[in-house]
Amino acid sequence: MKLPSYQTLLQLGLTIFIGFLSFSTQASLPFERHTLPLPKLDNSYLSPAPTHQKSEPHNWTLHTIKIPKFGSLSGALDSAGIRKGVLFQINKIPHSNLLTQLQVGDTLKIWTNDHDDLMKIVYPKNHSTTYQLDSVKDGFKIKIIKKKTDIKVVSTSGEIKHSFYLSGKAAGLSAKTIMALADIFSWEIDFIRQLRPGDPFKVIYEKKYIDGNYIGDGRILAAEVTTNHGIKHSAFLLTDKNNKTIGYYNAKKRNLRKAFLRNPVDYVRITSRYKPKRYHPVLKKWRAHRGVDYGGPVGTPIHATGDGQIIRRGWSKSYGRVIYIKHAGKYTTVYAHMSRFGKYKKYQWVKQGNIIGYIGSSGLATGPHLHYEFRKNGRHIDPLKVKFPDAGPVPKKYRAKFIKFSTLMSAQLDRLSTKTKLAKNFE
Ligand SMILES: [Zn+2]
Repeated sequence: MKLPSYQTLLQLGLTIFIGFLSFSTQASLPFERHTLPLPKLDNSYLSPAPTHQKSEPHNWTLHTIKIPKFGSLSGALDSAGIRKGVLFQINKIPHSNLLTQLQVGDTLKIWTNDHDDLMKIVYPKNHSTTYQLDSVKDGFKIKIIKKKTDIKVVSTSGEIKHSFYLSGKAAGLSAKTIMALADIFSWEIDFIRQLRPGDPFKVIYEKKYIDGNYIGDGRILAAEVTTNHGIKHSAFLLTDKNNKTIGYYNAKKRNLRKAFLRNPVDYVRITSRYKPKRYHPVLKKWRAHRGVDYGGPVGTPIHATGDGQIIRRGWSKSYGRVIYIKHAGKYTTVYAHMSRFGKYKKYQWVKQGNIIGYIGSSGLATGPHLHYEFRKNGRHIDPLKVKFPDAGPVPKKYRAKFIKFSTLMSAQLDRLSTKTKLAKNFE
């Protein structure tokens, strides 16, 4: 899945700003949230709950140590009065890096016996994961304890009031889910220009809990946004058999993602557009510019705009460090003037969004920029104007599963709208 792009962040940020400027005193819209009676989700991918923990023997001493700036496990063991050789022993056991890669503010619970021998370390890494070291017969052992995450499916609906972000907030959505929603529809909806007050949106998504405490949102399962001309945009999640996200598709099983990203860099500053003819500042003559230049600091990541295979990765006098990617449907993309390449080698397959290199000024370049070309059947096309093909539809083997899920979700989304109307009528 494509990550929320900085572009989206910037756009939303702008929207928030505009929203606050003009409408900060507006009351929120009527909305409702309730838990839906959905079938139990397959949570088998989550680790089982930890077994109960026995309390420690009476003669153990507990040292609670907060890791200071530049702190380390070595320092923590020292302050618990444990002899130096122990760290060496820990370093030799599998997964020792889990305990040695500490961060400022982390808290370790260290138990020692009355001979100052290390008996146990408990290191809560985050809400759900704890690393634990135990003293065993022949040394130490580290285990990873995962708490069970409970997932509740909830739904929310609202209407666009002034900005998508504030309307989402008013409907009780977290920033993360608003971002995810904007990202899912980023190919279809221009969240700044296309949405109008009164446009309804509905979301069914996951909320995660550990021990009954809300720890954050999970994935969006389904969503629907209607734009001002009454055009319904819907999205349904498709997962594989391990419940890993494959992507989002509409009711017609069409992928919401396009085969290509519009831009290969996040912070878009186009310094030179596609032109049949232009004056070349280095060669000092008139030449066609059959690509788009993106200005940006040296080292800015460059993303592969589509899935494909690297067919050339090397040096050219004019292009400097350059990568050619061949995609399905006779498309080729070219990325030139890189300061350095990413980790992908020649003939390797890359996914849309993978970082293939970094902005530079190698070859004939006046300053750091990415020169990007888009070719179809070897002919240059303006990448800012071309209508991109869709990424593949729901794969055949998931078709039945998708239809079942999207039908169920559609019904839930429809129900949501009826209730929203009712709620409004009562006001
Ligand atoms: Zn160029």
